[in-house]
Amino acid sequence: MLKSVDNPLLENRWDDDAAKGMSESELLLYRSNILGSDKRVTNYGGGNTSAKVMETDPLTGEPVEVLWVKGSGGDIGSIKMDGFATLYMDKLNSLRSLYRGVEFEDEMVAYLPHCTFKLNPRAASIDTPLHAYVPRKHVDHVHADAIIAIAASKNSKELTHDIFGARIGWLPWKRPGYELGLWLEKFCLENPDADGVVLESHGLFTWADTAKDCYDTTIDVINRATEWLHERTSGARVFGGTKHTSLDATARRDVAARLMPAIRGFVSGNQHMVGHFNDSPAVLEFVNSQQMEALAALGTSCPDHFLRTKIRPLVVDFDPSKGNLDEVLAGLPAQIDAYREDYKAYFERCKHDDSPALRDPNAVVYLVPGVGMITFAKDKATARISGEFYVNAINVMRGASAVSEYQGLPEQEAFDIEYWLLEEAKLQRMPKPKSLAGRVALVTGGAGGIGVATAERYLAEGACVVLADINADNLKTAQDALTQSYGQDVVRSVVMDVTNEDAVAQAFTDAAVEFGGIDILVSNAGIASSAPIEQTTLALWNRNMDILSTGYFLVSREAFKLMRVQDMGGSIVFVASKNGLAASPNASAYCTAKAAEIHLARCLALEGAEAGIRVNVVNPDAVLRGSKIWEGEWLDQRASTYGTDKQGLEEMYRNRSMLKRSVLPADIAEACYFFAAETSSKSTGNILNVDAGNVQAFTR
Ligand code: NAD
Repeated sequence: MLKSVDNPLLENRWDDDAAKGMSESELLLYRSNILGSDKRVTNYGGGNTSAKVMETDPLTGEPVEVLWVKGSGGDIGSIKMDGFATLYMDKLNSLRSLYRGVEFEDEMVAYLPHCTFKLNPRAASIDTPLHAYVPRKHVDHVHADAIIAIAASKNSKELTHDIFGARIGWLPWKRPGYELGLWLEKFCLENPDADGVVLESHGLFTWADTAKDCYDTTIDVINRATEWLHERTSGARVFGGTKHTSLDATARRDVAARLMPAIRGFVSGNQHMVGHFNDSPAVLEFVNSQQMEALAALGTSCPDHFLRTKIRPLVVDFDPSKGNLDEVLAGLPAQIDAYREDYKAYFERCKHDDSPALRDPNAVVYLVPGVGMITFAKDKATARISGEFYVNAINVMRGASAVSEYQGLPEQEAFDIEYWLLEEAKLQRMPKPKSLAGRVALVTGGAGGIGVATAERYLAEGACVVLADINADNLKTAQDALTQSYGQDVVRSVVMDVTNEDAVAQAFTDAAVEFGGIDILVSNAGIASSAPIEQTTLALWNRNMDILSTGYFLVSREAFKLMRVQDMGGSIVFVASKNGLAASPNASAYCTAKAAEIHLARCLALEGAEAGIRVNVVNPDAVLRGSKIWEGEWLDQRASTYGTDKQGLEEMYRNRSMLKRSVLPADIAEACYFFAAETSSKSTGNILNVDAGNVQAFTR
């Protein structure tokens, strides 16, 4: 057995106490969750589990055998009870008489809903027959890297036999579907003592009569393969040895920050794409290796892998020893074009008369020697997960090329999965993207009242958000709250003083690495001050100018640079103030700085138009609730100017407004959303007052 140091073996997580008293279906859920809790067992969304359970038929009151199997589109690690489809076993068995042979196997999918037990709305997946026809109570199907490494080796049949003997069988590549279900049944009947089977280029099936035995078998079989591979790969020259040396971590991010917006611009023709950067040791070992280009060209093997990553990645022409980034950027259009042409040629070679139309021909995965891997997809989670899948593919190539010769799937088979009509139907069923899907927004003053409300509005519409603020504590609170509601993938934060040129540049670098670029800048950081002119110190005057004018200039300048590289247009929204249009007593520094802000927006609208960069202004007034400005000195000063307190002030402002209404952060956020979204795509250089009506602030 392997020693515990650097132990790549899976631990057996079955806990008899936890499992005690569970029903068969609860045991299935328990087993699925502990299997899926370790991504080395199966990739996100990959694999499925099942149990054949005796239930009471609601129609007859009699006992009846029901297949519980992971439903379409779920993930065994996070699946809940309602994630399983349930189907009558006798009906599934009766489908055999309808089967017209392998060329008609896809039509069997339409019969599955007719087998539903208890009107369960969870759709049964394409893999259902693979579980139904294995004549054992419990069945696991997983995509462990160690197993796929064996399955994707040229002599995978011999290797399977060498490792497992008669315990685990082997079946040649066959696209998952009804026919493969029958193959599995035949194998089981002919090999009653076998515990499972390796499917060539695909994964593992294991089975047993109890949930625990099934779990133990799956873990044990994966560990056996892992151990066998480990013995043959540790200390060996993997991927033919090293060709490139990694740049240091900061330099890797700097290169990624320049490459990602450029790539993003090229690949966002159909829809805005979001990027993800991965420079983990496994990725660096691969991108720096001698065999990387040759192996990458062979394409991925497991269907789950290439559905996420496309059949092969694009290798960026970067040489870390030369640092030829400018050259690479200049050559990028040609490289991307060549990839698209190659993909279109693959489509033309392999398509059938009834194939769906060509999909986005751009690469998903970009490998950069010395730097890492960049992935692009329609949203952040998909980009991240695509990257994780390519890491699975790297692990597979690592193992297979060390013990044998790695083989990708034959091109036609890969195409038939990628453009499978059943896969297309799944895509067509996907909900319509939200209005800011694929958009990335950077919000300054992102820890404040209006900043958080705006970020939340954007997140609800599918955007990714970078919160930038000078206040680290409030930033953390804001990020935690938004992450809680919208998930970790889509929220980032950066401590940044808008008056510090380097910090501003760094924040945009971070945004480029975290999401691939930006589409929306909300320049909103702010302070408020109040003092009669004689008591306005130069320091107070400069502080207002620095944050509210210079700060807005600095962030806009960086946004312009990034947006021009992407060449996808963009939207800049300044959160200014009613006070930038209408004078207010005892606040000359603030009012003047806000007026400068508004005029800066007009100038930038003029400059940005030819690049599709829109610049607009939202003018709030008297947003007391939620705003931190209204917690400190400003509150006291304003209150004393008007001879009242906070509540009195809100009341006073409400009564002063033409509409007699209080203005809330969410109202400002709505205006910031309007200027960010496509609905305002023909508006630039505009000012939208959100102040419940103030005649002095009417624009003209
Ligand atoms: P807020 O105090 O809740 O938020 C402002 C945020 O800006 C704070 O989190 C603060 O830490 C941050 N900030 C301050 N200086 C910074 C710097 N140098 N670099 C980076 N971040 C910095 O206030 P709010 O009401 O949400 O204000 C947001 C914007 O709206 C401000 O520009 C403000 O002038 C404007 N505004 C607010 C009102 C109102 O009544 N609340 C009215 C008119 C205009």
